[in-house]
Amino acid sequence: MPPNFKSHRVGDATITKVEEQELRNVPASFLYPAAEASNITGTDGALREYLEEGGDSFRLSVHTWVVRTPEHLILIDTGSGNDKERPRNPTFHRQSIPFIERLKAVGVHPEHVDFVFNTHLHVDHSGWNTRLEDGKWVPAFPNARYVFPRLECEYYSSADSHNEVNVPSLGVFEDSVAPIIEAGLADFIQPSGGRYLDIFEFIPTPGHSVGHMSIALRSHGETAIFGGDIMHSPVQVYRPDLNTVFCEFQSEASASRLRMLNLLADEDALYLATHFPASSAGVVGRVAEGFSWTYF
Ligand SMILES: [Zn+2]
Repeated sequence: MPPNFKSHRVGDATITKVEEQELRNVPASFLYPAAEASNITGTDGALREYLEEGGDSFRLSVHTWVVRTPEHLILIDTGSGNDKERPRNPTFHRQSIPFIERLKAVGVHPEHVDFVFNTHLHVDHSGWNTRLEDGKWVPAFPNARYVFPRLECEYYSSADSHNEVNVPSLGVFEDSVAPIIEAGLADFIQPSGGRYLDIFEFIPTPGHSVGHMSIALRSHGETAIFGGDIMHSPVQVYRPDLNTVFCEFQSEASASRLRMLNLLADEDALYLATHFPASSAGVVGRVAEGFSWTYF
């Protein structure tokens, strides 16, 4: 697989991945509970390529995409954050990761960020929206407008979301989203999606979560699409029917995934995943049996 952290040029924009952490040895049987293990770990070489060396687990990335346009500095999804209380989700509980230092190392100073987009409001996508200062959660990017799907805000601020599948994200709205809204820094995307700034389009891709959005960037005839959690690994390019244990609305999730794969192939778009390991970027092609994945 290609090395991490390379930048991609899409029209006028430059896109760079800044990693927060890697999750190692995530069992296939946990991530994709509905899959026959043999369909992932068995004889199909195209899928085995994406597994850890042992052959039955995944390596997953958690990161931010840094987007620079001639006018703006934008972050897309913000990892899981430091100091968050996640007692029911030990992976992300009270972390201490030098993520802000990593942003600075690629020239991103928190006060210079103009926009922060969240594809959805799960634990590993909105954590660095805020940081702990004197016992209070404050915006980590104080001069940014933060852009949230409205439906996600409504759902995760309500007890309706306090169910089993959302246990990993309990507390996220309160410590990572509400303080942004209270600070007056939030903009909201309607459930129908739509344009934001000149070059972005929020595309509704519900299912993984209630108001999940993918984000297209179109510049000078080129397209990149930030897919959030529409897929967790390249295996789902080959098996769009496969939902993860974290997908709350399963039939909508697979329908959104199939629509997105068709869009990616139609537009010859660069796909920028959240959880694919290595470069986390690539292109989707059409093959006789469906779709194929090639890393960039
Ligand atoms: Zn995620």
